[in-house]
Amino acid sequence: MREAFFILVILLVLFGLTAYRYRKQIAMGLQIWRMLRGAREMEAKNAPQIDPQPAERGELVNCSRCGKWTPASTAIKFGPTIYYCSTQCLQQKVKT
Ligand SMILES: [Zn+2]
Repeated sequence: MREAFFILVILLVLFGLTAYRYRKQIAMGLQIWRMLRGAREMEAKNAPQIDPQPAERGELVNCSRCGKWTPASTAIKFGPTIYYCSTQCLQQKVKT
């Protein structure tokens, strides 16, 4: 049992000496690790959060020109059943 304790002490001393010898590298490693962790946290914060509720509620309407589906609230209503997704579509429809 005494030998085991002695070996443990030697190992600890060796570990301490190694840590002291490579303290700069260890400090650098820790810094890099912290940086990576910080970056990951930032990424998690900046990640687009998916809204559980749909952003645009209400029915979708079909653009009469390009066929794109857009929420009725943002579409341009031109008649009882005619909708346009954007003013560009409306203008191009008017031109033709
Ligand atoms: Zn359109």
